[in-house]
Amino acid sequence: MAAVNDTTHTEPHTPWGSSPEKKPLNPLAQTMKLQLNYDELTNCMRCGFCQAACPTFLETGLEAASPRGRIALMKAVVDGVMEPDQKFREQMDLCLGCRACEPVCPADVKYGHLLEETRDSLEQHEEHRWFIKAARKVAFKEMFPKPKRMKLVGKLLRTYQKSGLQKIARGTGIMNLFPKNMRDMEKILPEASGRGIVETLGTRVAAKGNKIGTVGMFRGCLMDVMFTQTNLKTVQLLSEAGFEVLIPDTQNCCGALHAHSGEIDAAKSLARQNVRAFREAGVDYIASNAGGCGALLVEYDHLLHDEPEYADDAKWFASRVKDVSQLLLEKGRLPDFAQPANRASDGQPFTITYQDSCHLRNVMRSSNAPRNLMKRVANVKFVELQGADRCCGSAGIYNIVQTEMANQILEHKMEHVKETNAHVLITSNPGCLLQMKLGIEREHMSDKMEAVHIVDFLYDRLANEPSARKS
Ligand code: SF4
Ligand code: SF4
Repeated sequence: MAAVNDTTHTEPHTPWGSSPEKKPLNPLAQTMKLQLNYDELTNCMRCGFCQAACPTFLETGLEAASPRGRIALMKAVVDGVMEPDQKFREQMDLCLGCRACEPVCPADVKYGHLLEETRDSLEQHEEHRWFIKAARKVAFKEMFPKPKRMKLVGKLLRTYQKSGLQKIARGTGIMNLFPKNMRDMEKILPEASGRGIVETLGTRVAAKGNKIGTVGMFRGCLMDVMFTQTNLKTVQLLSEAGFEVLIPDTQNCCGALHAHSGEIDAAKSLARQNVRAFREAGVDYIASNAGGCGALLVEYDHLLHDEPEYADDAKWFASRVKDVSQLLLEKGRLPDFAQPANRASDGQPFTITYQDSCHLRNVMRSSNAPRNLMKRVANVKFVELQGADRCCGSAGIYNIVQTEMANQILEHKMEHVKETNAHVLITSNPGCLLQMKLGIEREHMSDKMEAVHIVDFLYDRLANEPSARKS
């Protein structure tokens, strides 16, 4: 990394002259100067090709809320031309981290890495209020990296959902005491579970028929307790396609939420655990079924590049990571997918559409595999969603911490969703799935459209799977 270690700078040239006197940078600017790859900052040639791909620029029309603008702000801070004030922080926070600016950039600027490094620097100098500090500590240190605690949360949530407490909370209007966003979220929560895939299937599932390779299943932290069925179906689809599936129980959370929230050291620690777990298992591929997780897994080589003890193994790991749709389509023995049961009661052809996962599309660079896979289901009409490549506003915890912009983006997204007249809206990431469910709920469309993870959609249509649930 070409970080500049000199922590002083020369006063920039201004219309009223320049001062030869060097003065120390602000401590945050110093940290940024050490953390950010200066070559990457200067690679930006200010062409502006990224503007049209950036949701926050399109929503605000502000240069500072665009990729080019944000890179200029980072560089100005590192060069000492500007103080990293509150407005600077606001623009860094407003970025979705969707990385739609990367595939369109002719200079191949790694904007996502610059953003992560900037957020990590900001976090090192941030004086949070006590409750935010406590919430961050609980989430990033005590929950996501502790699989047993995640399962306990899953169990508690399941008790709330199954014991009748949820009905009471809704029926008595207690939920009205909470902000609207939380009330909406509560309505679309998936069925939680205290038993993840290892507790259900063990750590090895044999291939059906001739084995064509061994896949290590990345189970995720939230995925394993909030979307357990999707995880189970992922393993079964992979087995159906001819893969032996190993699920190393020593794996942990991918660290994506940590990396995107300025907790790079914690993300690195999780990456080391995962690299060890899958290296020991010795797999041909590593399957992810969540675009947000997969995008960090595929960049573990970058995350651990300056750790000699792990760098080679991290490269080994990153080169094996694939989204489940890529694995099934490109490497697997594809099963037949039967046509959906007659759910199109409106007499229209059974219509499906797809909202890209930004990280699957922009970082893992896979947009065709999911589309081609779902088009293999018999007798479905696929309608392209206008702006499917644009973020839905979920973006990890963005819809919780940047509610206004997330809602604005979702509102615009739903205008296009309505135009598709689809019966099923398919996604490849749990965050996008919940956001799409939220949009459908808010637009009162749940009687005619449902949002579904691509794995659930495909598994439920396995033509020759007796245990498959046909819907
Ligand atoms: S497209 Fe790339 S080089 Fe052009 S302004 Fe955007 S980040 Fe800079
Ligand atoms: S990551 Fe997304 S929101 Fe952020 S600058 Fe790039 S395109 Fe815009």
